[in-house]
Amino acid sequence: MTSNRPGDLDSFWMPFTANKAYKSDPRLLASAEGMHYFTPDGRPVLDGTAGLWCVNAGHGRKPIIDAICQQAATLDFAPTFRLGHPKAFELATRLAEVLPDGIDKVFFAGSGSEAVDTALKIAQAYHRARGHSARTRFIGRQRGYHGVGFGGISVGGLDANKAGFTLLPGVDHLSHTHSFEHAAFSRGQPAWGAHLADELEDLIALRGADAIAAVIVEPLAGSTGVLVPPIGYLERLRAITKREGILLIFDEVITGFGRLGAATASERFNVIPDMIVCAKGLTNGAVPMGAVGVSDDIYDAVVGGGGEGIEFFHGYTYSGHPLAAAAGLATLDIYRDEGLFERAEALSPTWEEQVHGLGNAANVIDIRNLGLVAAIELSPRPDAPGARGTEVFHRCFDRGVLVRVTGDTIALSPPLIVSESDIEQILGCVSETIQQAA
Ligand code: PLP
Repeated sequence: MTSNRPGDLDSFWMPFTANKAYKSDPRLLASAEGMHYFTPDGRPVLDGTAGLWCVNAGHGRKPIIDAICQQAATLDFAPTFRLGHPKAFELATRLAEVLPDGIDKVFFAGSGSEAVDTALKIAQAYHRARGHSARTRFIGRQRGYHGVGFGGISVGGLDANKAGFTLLPGVDHLSHTHSFEHAAFSRGQPAWGAHLADELEDLIALRGADAIAAVIVEPLAGSTGVLVPPIGYLERLRAITKREGILLIFDEVITGFGRLGAATASERFNVIPDMIVCAKGLTNGAVPMGAVGVSDDIYDAVVGGGGEGIEFFHGYTYSGHPLAAAAGLATLDIYRDEGLFERAEALSPTWEEQVHGLGNAANVIDIRNLGLVAAIELSPRPDAPGARGTEVFHRCFDRGVLVRVTGDTIALSPPLIVSESDIEQILGCVSETIQQAA
């Protein structure tokens, strides 16, 4: 489909995209409202992915648009280095209320990647402030995605994102938790796999707890293809890290703001880490923003330990940007006023039922779900991994449904305003296109 090409596509070096392939067969989104995108020629595309896991309240929400416009007219930019503006403080207070009890202070960044690297630096700063300067190592997990900064790719576990780049020293990885053999087609959390958290004990025995700053995981791994944590797994990670004085960081860039039917995955699983990284749904995707929520203990150690000078030599020009802060406040109001986290929870049994209805479709080798997120994994074509997934993605788009594809895994994460008939349309389309891509 090339008829919608509005102009020259050459100059934009597109992120995480096969540039040449895309530009020879572009698909463009020109506007959006509610559950739909619209192509430049006005064709609706039902959004099965909340944009890129971020538009949790649906598109074109007027209170968010108004808040951004009003903020731009009132205060377009103000530094937060040695100065401040009211909305950044207000949003930090509101966000701390939304995050679980015990996560009370907020550091703002411009994206999820920046927030991840911020969290890693806070972990090292915390231990240093407490006189434990040797605690510098990090433990991530295979198949983890923590953005694209050097810190994030180092603790992350996606080989393609790391290959050829210089990585942080002092990083180990736990195994990922997915098993076709033991947990394929699990509904919700798999019963198998909690024991994988015990690998942390082995790494502690190898490195020494007093060398380890933090463990960072996505409570539910999103970008790698939706890996739902086994029952009891996160609890074990929490128990071990607490016992050993190692900080636990949950990267909730995808799981935050209702995706799993609660404000955060931490609350959904009732496992409270020491730091929560968020972004995306924080502003409904409308203005870029990331944030790190930390415990009072961490803040007090780093800030309380300082003298008159700057306590933490870190920050971004756009930390707490006025437009992002305004968008964040309006977004959190919508989530609360419309009960969207509860709505996601209420819809999740229907979602699970419908998603697992595709279990007998051709080439489906696993289905995973929790809250309003799901993955349908297809067997790769011999010698062409990813080709079947890409075909489904293109066919769905051309039939008016946006899905996300990682390799041969179709990931679904609709806005939390999705209706039951939208769910039927999304899954009906996926089902038919999977048959066509056999
Ligand atoms: N962490 C997780 C878990 C993510 O899913 C993402 C993005 O998808 C990031 C970090 C990076 O966020 P950003 O793309 O805003 O830098």
